[in-house]
Amino acid sequence: MKTYKIACIPGDGIGKEVVPAGQQVLQALAEGQNNFRFAFTSFDWGGDYFRQHGIMMPDKGLDELRHMDAILFGSAGDPHIPDHITLWGLRLKICQGFDQYANVRPTRILPGIDGPLKRCRTEDLDWVIVRENSEGEYAGVGGRAHQGHPIEVATDVSMMTRAGVERIMRYAFRLAQSRPRKLLTVVTKSNAQRHAMVMWDEIALQISQEFPDVHWDKELVDACTARMVNRPASLDTVVATNLHADILSDLAAALAGSLGIAPTGNIDPERRYPSMFEPIHGSAFDIMGKGLANPIGTFWSCVMLLEHLGEPAQARRLMQAIETVTANPALHTRDLGGSAGMQEVTDAVCQFVQKIDQRQRAA
Ligand code: ATP
Repeated sequence: MKTYKIACIPGDGIGKEVVPAGQQVLQALAEGQNNFRFAFTSFDWGGDYFRQHGIMMPDKGLDELRHMDAILFGSAGDPHIPDHITLWGLRLKICQGFDQYANVRPTRILPGIDGPLKRCRTEDLDWVIVRENSEGEYAGVGGRAHQGHPIEVATDVSMMTRAGVERIMRYAFRLAQSRPRKLLTVVTKSNAQRHAMVMWDEIALQISQEFPDVHWDKELVDACTARMVNRPASLDTVVATNLHADILSDLAAALAGSLGIAPTGNIDPERRYPSMFEPIHGSAFDIMGKGLANPIGTFWSCVMLLEHLGEPAQARRLMQAIETVTANPALHTRDLGGSAGMQEVTDAVCQFVQKIDQRQRAA
């Protein structure tokens, strides 16, 4: 029997609620199966750890994760700690330390979910946004001088490398090629940013020659926001820089109904290190401890985790259970206009996961 070693890092806020819910669902999936099981190891890194130790995770923390098969992450963010410390001290440390250069964000309007776009049919919105996750605007290059003086200066330099752009373009073209429409939109801003973004466009053209069957186009990031709202069906796979995709994917999540539903995977496509899966929402301290968090974003992230582990049938089973639950308005959490609690939704997904298994065995 295969044992998948899964590191669980709940982090802060509602991350501490949705990650255990994700574990419960994965456990339900493994129950009664004789070909695989999960071994979970939890890490208490995040804001509370920072208050005790002055760092978000131990210096040698990456070594504790290195031999895991995957990481399930909650969120990092604490109202009492500056955001750049929580982000750089934990999430980015793992993403960059493990060179998880492809951040993949699928968006669909799940059954039963009422999106905010009036004229958008469910089938019109089926996107995967690929975010460059290792450099660009988040390269960490920059600094401050003359602090506290009138001539104070601060810079954040967006840094793009040919190798970094080539690998994310190749990943995005390959992903687009694997989807039925074989359609890729390359998001750019080369009209205003005339160095790195022009190289980005040139490399997109170069890599496109390796994928003659993929239809692709280029869109300025500002125009892309309008296109997402006005012509959602014209998009399928989208690739964008670290910052652009960060913003576009929050818009995508809102257009699909709620931030609480959207999943993401931080992938090392070469599988040198473990990849990390997490809901895209943050720590949401306003609803923490109330049992109100929507766990669907975490469950969908578990679907991505299962796909990455090479368990497509289990991934489909979990996605089917999720869609059965979202189709029932009585099982909607408050962010979706319902009144169900997180535990109720979690128990329902676990029940369906087991029912689907029984049905498949009986067939
Ligand atoms: P952070 O600083 O960590 O990014 P945040 O609270 O500023 O956290 P988010 O957590 O992304 O930002 O959430 C914004 C709002 O969306 C929250 O205040 C919360 O009300 C709502 N929200 C986010 N995630 C969920 C969820 N899983 N279930 C229900 N509501 C959610």
